[in-house]
Amino acid sequence: MFSLSQILGDVSAAHHQTPDDWARSVTTVVRDAAIYHAARNGFYRAQCDAVGVDPAALHELEDLQRLPLLPVSLFKRADARVLLTCPLSKVETEARSTGTSGVSSVVRRDAETVTRALIGLTGTYREFFGLSGGAGLFLSPSSADAPENGMAKVFNILNGILDDHAYLVSDNVFDPADALEYLRKWKGLMTRHIIGPPFLVRRFLRFLELEGINVFLDPYSMVITLGGWKRYPGEAVSAEDFRDECHHRLGVSRENVRDMYGLIESDLLAVECHLHRKHVPPWCFVSIRDVHDVTREVAAGQTGMIAVLDAVNTSYPGFLLTDDVGEVETGTCACGRTGQVITFRHRRQGGELDRSAVSIERYMGSGRYASAQPA
Ligand SMILES: [Zn+2]
Repeated sequence: MFSLSQILGDVSAAHHQTPDDWARSVTTVVRDAAIYHAARNGFYRAQCDAVGVDPAALHELEDLQRLPLLPVSLFKRADARVLLTCPLSKVETEARSTGTSGVSSVVRRDAETVTRALIGLTGTYREFFGLSGGAGLFLSPSSADAPENGMAKVFNILNGILDDHAYLVSDNVFDPADALEYLRKWKGLMTRHIIGPPFLVRRFLRFLELEGINVFLDPYSMVITLGGWKRYPGEAVSAEDFRDECHHRLGVSRENVRDMYGLIESDLLAVECHLHRKHVPPWCFVSIRDVHDVTREVAAGQTGMIAVLDAVNTSYPGFLLTDDVGEVETGTCACGRTGQVITFRHRRQGGELDRSAVSIERYMGSGRYASAQPA
């Protein structure tokens, strides 16, 4: 069995536990996180009380589904600081994302959470991509250009592993000719990788097609994607067709085209193995909920709302009900890794409902807010 420190310290070993050890590890780290938040966060404790859950009494993997969930729509609210377990003075980073409604989520993280997430993500990249050098063509903005862009941050952590990089998006403008220039400059000097949201990688592929250019990258080149598949309706493409395109236009082997799934409110980043299955990190547990009754977990393999229980977060309870629809499988993948594999289907429209047991209004009105907010 692994503690949270052991999981973060050896992400690879944590992915290769026996199924029993994995279940025990994830149950323990999520339970301990719930105990931590319930003890320090009045809003979360109120949620637990409302449904009669004592986090300390959760012993089995099956018990985790009883933990109250915070809908991610809460992060869009002006009073979202009530979600915080840490004091506002301890907040180190703020990330923002605009959802489908155009209202941005504000996600605050303290130093402990940032440190853990950086270590965990670096370990994840090493485990799944095996990179220790090369050049990264980032079809995304730099963190300096977009300091609150969560996707850019997640990509930029890769920089610590690479030897050189270039950011090709500035002021929301992407020039594919510039991208081509960099790839030519690095040719023969370094293994070249392309990193970005799928819709921008496709825009680059379309540019190459229109110009009649085929770029053959290097034997170990990777295309790593995260984020939106389409910017405009009708732009969507199947993952398989996308991998074929990358293979034909860039000479990247299909198994080196890897997509990732994550959300700004969570420290979950599920990365594809070479079999294109997205592995949930060992510090998270994914529970799929009935669309009509989110307190209910659906049967194994069924489609529903994705809920994430994240043990890394100390800033706020990382037990989140997302607006995303998908499935999860538990077991050992043919790649040898044990745990959960997640499939994201689509984002649910109109997922703005507050589905928590105790609403922020009711909680604030209860008079418990003042005493519960850490100094
Ligand atoms: Zn796998």
